Amino acid sequence: MHFADFYRESIDDPQTFWRRQATLIDWHKPYTEVLDYAKPPFARWFIGGETNLCHNALDRWIATQGDMPALVAISTETRSEKVYTFKELLAEVSCMAAAMQALGVGKGDRVLIYMPMIAEAAFAMLACARIGAVHSVVFGGFASHSLATRIDDAQPKLIVSADAGSRGGKPIPYKHLLDAAIDLAHAKPASVLLVDRGLAPMQMVAGRDVDYAGLRVRHQGQQVPVTWLEANEKSYILYTSGTTGKPKGVQRDVGGYAVALAASMKYIFCGNAGETYFSTSDIGWVVGHSYIVYGPLIAGMATIMYEGLPISPDPGIWWSIVEKYRVTRMFSAPTAVRILKKQPVEFMKKYDLSSLKTLYLAGEPLDEPTSSWIAGELGVPVVDNYWQTETGWPILSIAKGVEDIPSRPGSPGLPIYGYKVRIIDEVGGEDCTANEKGMVVIEGPLPPGCMQTVYGDDQRFVQTYWTQSGGRHIYSTFDWGIRDADGYYFILGRTDDVINVAGHRLGTREIEESISSHAKVAEVAVVGVADQIKGQVAVAFVVLKRSDDAATPEAGRALEQEIMAVVDRQVGAVGRPARVVFVNGLPKTRSGKLLRRALQAICEGRDPGDLTTIEDPAALQQIRAMLEARTAQAVN
Ligand code: ATP
Ligand code: MG
Repeated sequence: MHFADFYRESIDDPQTFWRRQATLIDWHKPYTEVLDYAKPPFARWFIGGETNLCHNALDRWIATQGDMPALVAISTETRSEKVYTFKELLAEVSCMAAAMQALGVGKGDRVLIYMPMIAEAAFAMLACARIGAVHSVVFGGFASHSLATRIDDAQPKLIVSADAGSRGGKPIPYKHLLDAAIDLAHAKPASVLLVDRGLAPMQMVAGRDVDYAGLRVRHQGQQVPVTWLEANEKSYILYTSGTTGKPKGVQRDVGGYAVALAASMKYIFCGNAGETYFSTSDIGWVVGHSYIVYGPLIAGMATIMYEGLPISPDPGIWWSIVEKYRVTRMFSAPTAVRILKKQPVEFMKKYDLSSLKTLYLAGEPLDEPTSSWIAGELGVPVVDNYWQTETGWPILSIAKGVEDIPSRPGSPGLPIYGYKVRIIDEVGGEDCTANEKGMVVIEGPLPPGCMQTVYGDDQRFVQTYWTQSGGRHIYSTFDWGIRDADGYYFILGRTDDVINVAGHRLGTREIEESISSHAKVAEVAVVGVADQIKGQVAVAFVVLKRSDDAATPEAGRALEQEIMAVVDRQVGAVGRPARVVFVNGLPKTRSGKLLRRALQAICEGRDPGDLTTIEDPAALQQIRAMLEARTAQAVN
């Protein structure tokens, strides 16, 4: 099958295309219509059909592979490892579902899950899916304020949490953060279900807090029938990472999502029932929803949940997991690969990685050196894939399960079936020509599995994401990119990473690439900073390969000049950073995304806002100190 034909059908005849994909899952009641696009941009898929995510993830596999592994929960933090077969996982999920029902949770009720990467988190998600409750997983690294905002938005009846997470061997207590968040929130949950891992003491609130261990004993062995849901009912709410602004509550459906995941597992991730999938993400992110919990299980694969660092107890840990569980498909992020690249390669070479077929990477631009290094060391293809919390599954990639098309360095690939991707001119909305920069947009309807709306706010959904042109509804990804003459796309950065220097619009990514080409530069971030004369100027934050290259002010100034000269040459003088600041590290989220808005805010002397997802707060502290020192110098 040629991918081009496969893709073409998905765009020209979505009804036929998706009707065929819908056979990949079980339906309790058949749908009557594939797509309802009568009220654009709202798309409704598989109208009238009834199904259930938990049924497709678990019950469906019991007869054929009930005793095969379904969930492998590994924690190098607590040195624990447990394998649940499909039967055992179903039993745990039923038990959790019964406990939730006992606490009054029913169809349509929201359940907020604020948990570390432990098996109970997956039980809770699947239990919600089973009884038709709407889960909202909030990343365990968030602090009280961020959690409170999400509690107020989702208004959960129940919160499921734990005593603590753990990082680098140190417990990170959750309970006091949760209590503070509930205090701050206006919407109070009726109950809080707590998994006690024995890592940190918990102050239980009488009448509200319930210890899960007790309920688990009480409900053990209880069977909870699946609540069948119409395809367009809500499955979950998940907030975007908030790299660029106020997080949006992405709401997803049931039927379209199940079909989209099943299809992506077949055509993009090429996973077969009985094999093992390992995604290193976190259940707090969309990758954790689609490709730790639901996708692999819907495909009948065992899935690995890993709590711990990629380099602890040693940098071979992930590869030891691949060997032990014969992982065939692995999904990670470029940032994690860059961490491993700094480690001795022997840790990888120690293990038998012959089961591994492909490594998938997503979440941020994948640079060529990182990609070719890991592909070379592992001896397997690396497949980049570009998507968003909003879409739930890849927009751009290479669907090797359809046709083994070669990839191109720096490109996540081609538009995936179902997505009518275009590059348009920001101002006029016209299609760009080959290699011309523009906004990456998707012409509606979005395919199954994508966000239905912003939870509780249809208007915000329409206003934030959609524009109309020539009677067509256009979804903006807020990323900009180019398409080459052969149809490969390249993501150049976010549209709000564009800076406007004296009327010239420049992508910060372009300036970053230019600076990266300097031999002494390890990593760089460029942000646009308000400037009274030019509107905005570029400021570059540079991490050097050897920090002593800028040890003295003179050496720093000389290197700054060199870097400016490189940008002058490659981008032009308009892109020349007004300042180059040498730092030890860049502020990033735990999922590896650069916190540009925070960098920009400190440069402009503003409050950097919500920083609870930041990986290393010291990085931002250092940058603040450097900037203050520079200002003091300039004044003297
Ligand atoms: P917010 O929308 O709240 O600011 P966010 O956009 O960081 O948060 P996500 O939905 O997790 O939240 O991230 C999606 C974004 O990540 C994409 O829009 C794109 O900018 C970037 N991205 C994801 N995958 C890739 C990839 N393979 N290559 C380049 N960029 C990618
Ligand atoms: Mg986004």
